Amino acid sequence: MERVIHWIQRHRPRVVDITGGAPEMNPHFKDLVRSARAAGCEVIDRNNLTIMEEPGFEDLHSFLAENQVEVIASLPCYEPENVHRQRGQGVFERSIRALRKLNEVGYGGVSLKLNLVYNPLGPTLPPPQEALEADYRKALLQEHGVQFNRLFTLTNQPIARFAEDLKAKGQWEAYMSLLANAFNPATLEGLMCRSTINVGYEGEVFDCDFNQMLGLQLAGNQATYLWDIDPDGWLGLPVVTGPHCLACTAGAGSSCTGALSA
Ligand code: SF4
Repeated sequence: MERVIHWIQRHRPRVVDITGGAPEMNPHFKDLVRSARAAGCEVIDRNNLTIMEEPGFEDLHSFLAENQVEVIASLPCYEPENVHRQRGQGVFERSIRALRKLNEVGYGGVSLKLNLVYNPLGPTLPPPQEALEADYRKALLQEHGVQFNRLFTLTNQPIARFAEDLKAKGQWEAYMSLLANAFNPATLEGLMCRSTINVGYEGEVFDCDFNQMLGLQLAGNQATYLWDIDPDGWLGLPVVTGPHCLACTAGAGSSCTGALSA
């Protein structure tokens, strides 16, 4: 973490986007946030919401607000049953309580950004982002008094547990065909691997989260560490691609900030 922070202080990236499972559980999370903010970076916490009810994290919403951290939170549906199916019983209620806590300290308004993430339950493309955002806004406000800024729609990547499910259900071929047939060249310009780098928990660098999960090292088989590269050198390296990339280029596209084209 010291070496990552040192790199941030030296190169001052525009955005430090922190993700996990629950990245807040890293004992150095607060150091990372404070250091990145002091270096002038925008900081994003990809928050699973349920962490905010865990012992020791009761003040997390206040810490994030004090440090002007943008929150991007996963809420796969505005209907409890669908969230329970995807993430487990009781997760929807806990998520709503967490969103209310964030609203109470100013999130979802003008200065503190609270964005939500949707991904389909099964092997389909997400619906149009703008229309779904309107549905979320209406349902969350009317039924739960919750406000947020933007909704990002993500396409399920055919990797890890989702890939295993597809194969077990005999849906792999059909899903890959769906993605390939929906290829949209208009998404290429905005692909996140063209403007971001992904840093693993030991400092190793990848083109994106998905390549990290697949163990696809940056441009070669040798581990490359954040402190071995400078931003200019990294920009010259080719992106490591594979069939999973079709999920980023299908339909309206998919990135860490949702759809890439209308
Ligand atoms: S999965 Fe492929 S296209 Fe998508 S961000 Fe990663 S490298 Fe780029």
